[in-house]
Amino acid sequence: MRIHRQLGFLASLVLVIHAGPIPQPVVDYGIAENYLKSFYELEYNRPNLSGPDRLPEKLKEMQKFFRLKVTGKLDKETLAVMKKPRCGVSDVAAYSTFGDSPKWPINRLTYRIVNYTPDMSVAEVDDSIRRALKVWADVTPLKFTRIYRGTADIMISFATRDHGDASHFDGPQGILAHAFAPSSGIGGDAHFDDDEVFSFRSSRGIVLFLVAAHEFGHSLGLFHSDVPGALMFPTYSFRDPGRFSLTSDDIRGIQSLYGPNRDRTPIQPELPMAPNACDPNLIFDAVTTFRGETMFFKDSFVWRSSPSGSVTQHLISNLWPNAPDNIDAAYEDPVEKILFLFKGKQVWAFKSNIVEPGYPKPLSSFGLPPSVTKVSAAVHDKISGKTLLFFDIYYYSYNEMMKKMDKGNPKRLADGFPAVTGEVTAAHLIGDNIYLFRGTKVYEFSNSSRTLLRVLNNNNFLPC
Ligand SMILES: [Zn+2]
Ligand SMILES: [Zn+2]
Repeated sequence: MRIHRQLGFLASLVLVIHAGPIPQPVVDYGIAENYLKSFYELEYNRPNLSGPDRLPEKLKEMQKFFRLKVTGKLDKETLAVMKKPRCGVSDVAAYSTFGDSPKWPINRLTYRIVNYTPDMSVAEVDDSIRRALKVWADVTPLKFTRIYRGTADIMISFATRDHGDASHFDGPQGILAHAFAPSSGIGGDAHFDDDEVFSFRSSRGIVLFLVAAHEFGHSLGLFHSDVPGALMFPTYSFRDPGRFSLTSDDIRGIQSLYGPNRDRTPIQPELPMAPNACDPNLIFDAVTTFRGETMFFKDSFVWRSSPSGSVTQHLISNLWPNAPDNIDAAYEDPVEKILFLFKGKQVWAFKSNIVEPGYPKPLSSFGLPPSVTKVSAAVHDKISGKTLLFFDIYYYSYNEMMKKMDKGNPKRLADGFPAVTGEVTAAHLIGDNIYLFRGTKVYEFSNSSRTLLRVLNNNNFLPC
């Protein structure tokens, strides 16, 4: 009997954990409460169990910042964001560390690297710090000079746990670093949590350059940005330091404090601007399922839509560091659990977030002829095991089992999908409905009968 009861208890515990947001295990509430205290000015929560429960209100604030579904409840997506490594500075702009005008009164600033992490060579740390400051110097009149003794405006150090200021570090993961807004004394200083494993450029560690560039934004007076992909976004995501560029949001922010860099002809880099799901002219680059979620690609961004209805926006390079931006098409092979991304005459394959060995491969690896210069849309049909690859006014049917093209290819679009007369920009399949995106319009067909059911607008698919 006793054993039975224990088993019953265990089973119900497992159920609680898997049953979703309600009821939430106590430990998760602890995580949420700590997070909201650290980053959203949650001062107390139910003192003596009698005061007001401010947690839902603060949760909503946090969900809004991270563009999650605003529920005020500690759901899976919210908890996942809370568990991401991030900066130790608050997301609430009126955080007491910052005065009213967090800005240096001069453009010539000094920095000093006080000590080093054992994770990297001295030369790697020096170079990471120099490049992280250059990120800001390139777009402002600011000039940074390194000094080796005495007190610099920006004192840079590595430390763990309690390190002499009011904000202790928290061991591995969690908070990676913090920095103080411009002022004398500790103002401008940047501290890095040496319980992290820092790296020069490898995704296996926390790339010091990326964290430092973010922290120096605070050292110069910037707050956190709620724009996904912005350097000043609070959570850390790996991206290739060689491909790094500031977003227009970061540049607008820093130039509002210091103005542009007049020493050099203004470079107009291609700045990733997060696309807006509510834009009626939004045209998706590609749409696909991936591991039960639906992915909508646009420029260097991807929206992830989960079956629970939550939608989050990410940089493509945050999810798949080696993937190209501005892709043409995407589809999932659900049997092999592979995501294929097409751009130009190449295709990339991902099982994890790292590109599969041997990829990118040419389009000819699918048996496409050289005349096909790109795949503009792709969709896989689980039932038939066929993948349709669209190009111009044609489509090709590829047999995933046999790994070869079907006979009788290509077919004319107008023959297979009446009413669709020009290039398909994205394709997607839900149940028996196949959706062909053409510009801002979406043609919904029955996949089995190929009859046109409806013509929808693009923005039907993302909450706006
Ligand atoms: Zn920060
Ligand atoms: Zn500190």
